[in-house]
Amino acid sequence: MLSVRNLQVRYGRSVAALHGVDIDVPADGVLAVLGSNGAGKSTLLRAVSGTLRLHRGSVVAGSVEFDGRRIDRADPAAIVRLGVVGVPEGRQVFARMTVEENLRAGGIGARDATRRAAARARVHELFPVLAERAKQRAGLLSGGEQQMLAIGRALMSGPRLLLLDEPSLGLAPKVVARIGEIIREIHAQGTAVVLVEQNAVMALRVAEHAAVLEVGRVALRGTAAELAASDDVQRLYLGGH
Ligand code: ATP
Repeated sequence: MLSVRNLQVRYGRSVAALHGVDIDVPADGVLAVLGSNGAGKSTLLRAVSGTLRLHRGSVVAGSVEFDGRRIDRADPAAIVRLGVVGVPEGRQVFARMTVEENLRAGGIGARDATRRAAARARVHELFPVLAERAKQRAGLLSGGEQQMLAIGRALMSGPRLLLLDEPSLGLAPKVVARIGEIIREIHAQGTAVVLVEQNAVMALRVAEHAAVLEVGRVALRGTAAELAASDDVQRLYLGGH
């Protein structure tokens, strides 16, 4: 469904963030992308969502195809309309707007009112807390609830591929586990997911396939089970020896 080939990204002259990355996400699959700070994980998601062009001086080479269609020159809104929706790092909900208004903002691109209503029902079912707090300002939610709202808002446009940038960042272990369950549920409902994570334990539990980025290159790839068993992943990302 998503096929990234020889993706190279620079920020200006001096910073080369990706050096020729190949990534595939099958329809309905979950791909975890692991790697330490600065490995290029967010850059990969920005290239797929088209938001890289919002970063001044960025230069992209290689190709990104979604459903056989080149999207590496498409603008972010067109990519959302094709069904590829990102949840950026740091949640970025509209703090002064209510939960309901945040969800509505995510649904603006949905084709008609019936689909919007179905998307909202799905979001409320996945995240009952968002129904309970519909009238509350998003800025007053806990960190975990804000992450749920950010994911819920992305689901409002009925994506076929969801791009999640470190959804576990800064959250307590129990909340991280809950977010992991929700990602599995979203996947079970037929949405493919790219899950960028520093939390390898959670990501490898949720994903079927995984890739490890190291300084802009794919250093390892395989099934989540293969990577969880790999000595390098154990040592570097799972706290083993
Ligand atoms: P993190 O978890 O810290 O976000 P990451 O794996 O997502 O790390 P990226 O944010 O993609 O990594 O960064 C990859 C490289 O590109 C790093 O060297 C980073 O400093 C650089 N970089 C990222 N964004 C920009 C930008 N807007 N301008 C210049 N350099 C950037």
